Formats: sequence, structure tokens, C-alpha cells
Amino acid sequence: MHFNELNPPERLLLGPGPSNVNPRVLKALSSPLVGYMDPFYLKVMDETKDLLKYVFKTKNEFTFPIPGSGMAGMEAALCNVIEIGDEVLVCVNGFFGERMNELVLRIGGIPIRIDAGWGKIITNESVEEALKESNAKAIAIVHGETSTGIQQPIKELSKLAKSYDALLIVDAVTSLGGCKLDIDAWGIDICYSGTQKCLNCPPGLAPITLSNNALYAIQNRKTKIQSFYLDLQLINKYWTEERVYHHTGPISMTYALREALRIIHEEGIENRLIRHSRNSQAFIKGIEAMGLEMHAQENYRLPSLNTVVIPKGITDVNVRRMLFDCFNLEIGGGLGMLKGKIWRVGLMGRNSTEKNVILLLEALERTLRKEGYHKSNSGVGAAIDFYDST
Ligand code: PLP
Repeated sequence: MHFNELNPPERLLLGPGPSNVNPRVLKALSSPLVGYMDPFYLKVMDETKDLLKYVFKTKNEFTFPIPGSGMAGMEAALCNVIEIGDEVLVCVNGFFGERMNELVLRIGGIPIRIDAGWGKIITNESVEEALKESNAKAIAIVHGETSTGIQQPIKELSKLAKSYDALLIVDAVTSLGGCKLDIDAWGIDICYSGTQKCLNCPPGLAPITLSNNALYAIQNRKTKIQSFYLDLQLINKYWTEERVYHHTGPISMTYALREALRIIHEEGIENRLIRHSRNSQAFIKGIEAMGLEMHAQENYRLPSLNTVVIPKGITDVNVRRMLFDCFNLEIGGGLGMLKGKIWRVGLMGRNSTEKNVILLLEALERTLRKEGYHKSNSGVGAAIDFYDST
């Protein structure tokens, strides 16, 4: 048998994640390994923690990346807090809200669902009503719903959670590093993310942060956490002065994450958010000029993940295949009930650029024309006008 040397194609990843990785991050990944208790690595861990606190906007000491993709973050957030029989308000307005519901069930909690349409936000009123009628230990909600492109307002929800003594657990897998998110100012108790979206790192780590209230709830559990691997208190002992072995640290991935976060720090998180917002707005102007519609509710759109309604008569896969084959460019199709109905366009981290917006609009215009969609004004022109006027 003969196996060729690995030679992956270089694509432009404008889907729901992963996004493209900076060569600096790839270089960090290939740096020499040291032991997981090597003083060099312990310093890298400390710096990674500080950089994560900067990006999460938190003073929480309990902030670190855990091994595993975003789902590890979701599972850790839920299984550390919830005990069998605990009621949890689960906000479901998309695929990842459904996932949270599924996890709460598996952990043995009692999910109380608050449903909204896929593409709409969860209202404060619906949460307050559910809080009044339940004895919820926590509220679980997705900040950036990657399946719909909705950016959920969190600040007011957090006040509600506090007044009913419930913890607020927030999924920021698609929002961290690309959308406004302020753990301390908004009063979020547990927030987790993934490395492969707006942080532009390969998938494999899940940054997580916990407030003192969350920690207090975990320390006062009546039963042991079922998962050993995701036991955050045990993991924390490796990330603090105690340096107690829990698992072999994912050394190369921590190097990579540190470099990805260092790049964010160099740009400045506020500048980065403005950039994401501007490029998303330009993309939307282009889409609307072409006579296409956005899927997510206006004023609540995620700048990092833009959802476009597929026009009547156009076949989802034909367009995505043409973008892939002719332009070497990946966008995402719909998930779950939105399969075949929307496209998901990620403008995440370093992929959120004027050049990529123009390139994608141009590619989409040409592709749709080939597929028989002729209603369009120039999307590219509208985006350029937007850039020139702002
Ligand atoms: N939550 C959200 C909002 C996501 O978009 C995703 C993945 O796309 C996840 C959780 C799960 O993350 P992962 O696929 O990295 O495990």
C-alpha cells in the first residue's frame, strides 16, 4: 500500500465554521512539544487564560479552554450545574437550542422549553413567564444561533435570571470574538465557545468561563458530577497554582489558541467587532440589492453568520456546488428544518473582510445567473457603495 503525503486544498471557508486559520496559528501548532507540566507550558497556559479573559471581557479567574470542540463546552456547562431532577429553562429557537434541550434530558434535568420560531429571538416576557411558573435552577440560551443567524439579546435576560435566582448559561460558540459579548457587564454565569469560528483556530478546544455564582452552585451540588473528564473543578486544579494532573494538556492546540487570541489582542476586540459589523452590513446591502432576502429577524442579525433565504426555483446544492467547484469557496446550507431553505454565510474573524464580501457577492451573482435567477441589481455595486459611504 502507498499513501501520498497529505496535501489538503486551500479553500475559502465562508460557511458556519471552521473558518480559515492564520498562518501564524499554524506555525504555533507545529512548534516543538514540551511536557504538560513543563514550566514553559504552564506559562503558556497562564497567558492563554489572560487572553481569554480579555476576549470574554471578564475578571472571572475560572476561565480556561477545555479539550474538545464546542459541544464539550456545552456539555460541561450543563453537566456541572444540573443534577438529576433540576428544572432548567431551555430557550429553543434553532438547532443548537434543541441540542441544549437534548443534553439537559440526558443529564437527568427537567427541561422547560421556551420556543420561538427559527429566525426569531426569545423574548424576555416568555422567559419571565416561565420563571414565574417554575423553580428553574438555570436558563440555557444560545447567543449566536448558527442555524438561523440570530443574535440573542442577553443583558436584560441576565437581570431576569438574577431576580429569580437562576444561573444564566450562554452558548457563544459563534459569537465570541465576532459579536459584542460582555460576560461581566451582562452578568453571565457560564459561557462557553469553540475555537474554530471567530477565533480562527482549528477545532478542538472549548473556552469556558464561570462566575462566582456558578462556582458556588457547583461546589454545593448534592451529587457528584457524572462526567469525570468534564468536571470543571478538577480541570481548574490543572489551570491554577495547584497544577494537579487531570488529563494530558492539549499542548499544541493551546499554543495555537494562544496565538489566535494574541492576534485578536493585537487588533483590539472593539476594532474587531466594528469590522465584523461593517462587513456583515455590506454583505446584507449586496444581498438585498440582488432582490434576495435575509432570513434572521432584522436588528437581531449575527454579524459572524449571515443567513440568506434561497429564492424560489433555485436548488440549494447546485449553487453551493458551483461556488465550491468554480470559486473554491464554501458556504453552508440550512440545518434541520431550514435545510434547502437558507444559505449560511460565515464572515468570521479574519474571514470578515471587504475583499471576501465582494468576492462572495460576485460569485453568487454569477452562479445565480447561471441557475436562471435574473432579478438582480448589482450586489457588488451596492456593497461597494456601502463601503464608500461609511
Ligand atoms: N453551539 C453552536 C451555536 C454552534 O454553532 C456549534 C457548532 O457549530 C456548537 C454549539 C457545537 O460546536 P462543535 O461543533 O464545535 O462541537
